[in-house]
Amino acid sequence: RPILLWFRRDLRLSDHPALDRAASSGRPVIPVFIHDEVVEGYKAAPKWRLGLGVGHFADRLAGIGSRLILRRGEALGVLQQLIEDTGAATVWWTRAYDPASIRRDEEVKSTLTGQGIEAASIPGHLLFEPWTVETKQGGFYKVYTPYMRAVWDRDVAPTLTAPSELRAPAQWPDSDTLDDWRMGAAMDRGADIVRAFVNVGEEAAQTRLAGFARNDIADYDDARDIPGQDGTSNLSENLTYGEISVRACYHAGMRALDDGKPGARTWVQELIWREFAYHLLFHTPRLVSDNWREDWDAFPWNEDERLAEVKAWKQGRTGIRFVDAAMREMYVTGRMHNRARMIVASYLTKHLMCHWKIGMHWFEECLIDWDPASNAMGWQWSAGSGPDATPYFRVFNPVSQLDKFDKDRAYVNRWIAEGQDDPHPDALKYFDAIPRHWHMSPDDDYPEPIVSHEDGRERALATYKNRDF
Ligand code: FAD
Repeated sequence: RPILLWFRRDLRLSDHPALDRAASSGRPVIPVFIHDEVVEGYKAAPKWRLGLGVGHFADRLAGIGSRLILRRGEALGVLQQLIEDTGAATVWWTRAYDPASIRRDEEVKSTLTGQGIEAASIPGHLLFEPWTVETKQGGFYKVYTPYMRAVWDRDVAPTLTAPSELRAPAQWPDSDTLDDWRMGAAMDRGADIVRAFVNVGEEAAQTRLAGFARNDIADYDDARDIPGQDGTSNLSENLTYGEISVRACYHAGMRALDDGKPGARTWVQELIWREFAYHLLFHTPRLVSDNWREDWDAFPWNEDERLAEVKAWKQGRTGIRFVDAAMREMYVTGRMHNRARMIVASYLTKHLMCHWKIGMHWFEECLIDWDPASNAMGWQWSAGSGPDATPYFRVFNPVSQLDKFDKDRAYVNRWIAEGQDDPHPDALKYFDAIPRHWHMSPDDDYPEPIVSHEDGRERALATYKNRDF
């Protein structure tokens, strides 16, 4: 009887443990992707990017004699219907760790198991399952560095090769058509523009990894902090949809380290930040919804999305160049450099004293590499409300950061058109991507700061001081 292989954020053939197990069982395999209650909750850019990934992955499966069956509806009901349609006795999937997926998967597993179906989740999204890393006292880690030390010397299994074929069932069940799902519907504004910056699929990710490990990883230590340079791997969009396995990245990094490329150590440690984010999210699901430090509930955040400051921040017209360049980069490319993410998050939560959830949700709307764990951790870390957070008194200075990390102004000049005689083409693309009702033009005057670094810093520190953090 066939195996239903339920794909979610694991859109690859190589190093896919569940697929490997299904392929080597010799049984017919029916790959399925469900537009379910979790996907329903995705915002504009992540949903659009997921749609591109699903379309590409369907072609990959066709290349090994298989198909991707598409169905829409609540996951449990869809799987039950597919079991009835196909006579499948087994449902396997790659494990997920965010609260919404865990809720869904637990219900699927217990209901199907109760009906005599073998329903199982198989690891594949992480290097280390979150519950396998424990402190000496038997708890979970709340700080990155000891977590990293605890896992650094662990063995990581070698990667698995992609199956060359997948046994088809005697008859394929019906499938929806991807276009009918309109996964890009909320991206009507700038999808064509963002498309030029997207790198979809497993082969693209592998090429990227190979090029990065060959050419750039050695200098990663210095280059990774300069947003005007292409010094990082740009693999986050592929990692988030599982178009490449973190294990493949890890081994490429470790090989580069063995080859004497010093930056590789730092790069592997970044992969471990991703692990740490999932470790935290698994052990404290409130990371995505509430202040991780409960004493922060008393902090007087601005929570009104309609505030003029919030609007200016989203639109990249705060008058603070580093912030505005970064917000525009995100709108046009669906990505933002890590240094810039920290700066815009610090400016929103500290200078503007706006709730980190406002920022987290806007990133979720715009990022093609949106990741539930890394995004929430990044925001709470920047705001000071999270575990392993920046201390409240560290308020990034977006002006001196510019002098340090964008000395030649390559980054701000690439993204801000106003005031330039001959603006960079990417800076102009921003005006084609944004909605008309933002009423912005490259011929406008560049705005004065809505809140200067000095004023914002003083106000934030005074507020923190009045409280007992
Ligand atoms: P590289 O520098 O090449 O690093 C390799 C990989 O390591 C990345 O692809 C990513 O998977 C992982 N990684 C690197 N830095 C971090 C980090 N600080 N935390 C967790 N994992 C990391 N990353 C996302 O993938 N999705 C998000 O939604 C996201 N939101 C963020 C929000 C804020 C406020 C902050 C401060 C950071 C956020 N990050 C997020 C982390 C980081 O900015 C990105 O992973 C990184 O910029 C991606 O670029 P890259 O692939 O070139 O990374």
